[in-house]
Amino acid sequence: MVDPTLPTGLGHAGWTPDSWRSKPVKQNPEYPDQKALAKSLAELKKLPPIVHPREIVRLKQHLRDVARGEAFLLQGGDCAELFDYCEQGAIESKIKLLLQMSLVLIWGADKRVVRIGRMAGQYAKPRSSPMEMVDGKQVPSFRGDILNGFALDERELDPNRLVKAYHHSSATLNYIRAALSSGIADLHRPLDWGLGHVRDPALKAKYSEAVNFLTDMLRFMHTIGADKTEKLETVDLFTSHEGLLLEYEQCLTRLLDNPLHPPSSPAANTKEYYNTSAHFLWIGDRTRQIDHAHVEFFRGIANPIGVKIGPTTPVADILPLLRTLNPAREEGKITLITRYGAALVGGLLPAHIRAVEDSEYARTVVWQCDPMHGNTQSVGGGVKTRAFSDIFSELQQTLRIHKEQGSYLGGVHLELTGDAVTECLGGSEGLDEDDLSTNYTSFCDPRLNEKQALELAFLIADHYRC
Ligand code: PEP
Ligand code: MN
Repeated sequence: MVDPTLPTGLGHAGWTPDSWRSKPVKQNPEYPDQKALAKSLAELKKLPPIVHPREIVRLKQHLRDVARGEAFLLQGGDCAELFDYCEQGAIESKIKLLLQMSLVLIWGADKRVVRIGRMAGQYAKPRSSPMEMVDGKQVPSFRGDILNGFALDERELDPNRLVKAYHHSSATLNYIRAALSSGIADLHRPLDWGLGHVRDPALKAKYSEAVNFLTDMLRFMHTIGADKTEKLETVDLFTSHEGLLLEYEQCLTRLLDNPLHPPSSPAANTKEYYNTSAHFLWIGDRTRQIDHAHVEFFRGIANPIGVKIGPTTPVADILPLLRTLNPAREEGKITLITRYGAALVGGLLPAHIRAVEDSEYARTVVWQCDPMHGNTQSVGGGVKTRAFSDIFSELQQTLRIHKEQGSYLGGVHLELTGDAVTECLGGSEGLDEDDLSTNYTSFCDPRLNEKQALELAFLIADHYRC
């Protein structure tokens, strides 16, 4: 007898929300207090979904358009989101920056832009080692606010943080929704483009041209009343995080009505398992082993998903990953997030593209460039940084390689913040090593600040316009 509560969609054979537990789990947390863990998991299972299947399906449709080359995907946010960032100012400045960048990209690429924040749940971090040396002492590494705290006396794994993560995600998303529906994205307001820092006159002239164009266009739309549509006052901003902590992800994964095939329809998949912790989740570079727990968990959820691909990804792994994660070959279901580093991208990306585009998966994936994670370096005394020039170089090479290969670079994946941090070197402000200590606040990877992020958007736009 077939269990009627199980979805019968393609590719779910043998899958249950906890089938990942029978596989080896990388980055697995060993909680000292199992009783407290069980209590937190039971509480999470009872709490309502954070996002709705209807929103997940809408994002999937947008990503299908990206895979077809009809739209561009902008994804960005902190490396490690902290519970502390769950406050009005930090949320608003990130929304505004993503919006401003997307306007530049729409102008440049002449395409719709799909926006996804690394927000409202980006709390779990993979680490190269579970222990680290601080002031000559071995202490547990900081693994993200959902697992432990950055302060040295909070490094023990605490299962109560799982429930706290749920509430901080919900509060963040609640404010994102409230801000968007109350006009934060309202384009009639003058935008502060703040180009004062750009020293190079040629660059400044180029940016001013773009800003003048956008300002004129918005003023014109206002004059003729074309900005009175709801579309200009609100925009979609979807949420995402790395699906690292499977215990948490499992609790938020629910069997729900498929909005595309209501219960009354004759389709087989009237219900699907949706991971309601975020609209989009990705598998990190350290957890994408085909026979391990993360791939097992991800193959059963209906959300659009990402997979990080880098220098350690054998060409031969890519098709088995796609066949496991997307056996129905849905367009836009999988985003391949490539992150090689400026020095390696030229040698590695072409073969990865060919593996996909010469197969039955041609034109089904979204190719997205993450120019951050292959370009991390340590400077003076072990401070982690990234050079803006390396970030831009990887992006530029990626754009060129896709053009040569006849594929479409559908998006970028960035670590950024709306604050004036000094974590990445260079950019038109010309930050150097001595500037890093001025406002370095990341507890994990270095992020682009507002000016550097906007500058990158201008550079991408410029590529499309030339
Ligand atoms: C990240 O996106 O913060 C991350 C850890 O990336 P990767 O898995 O590509 O190293
Ligand atoms: Mn990171």
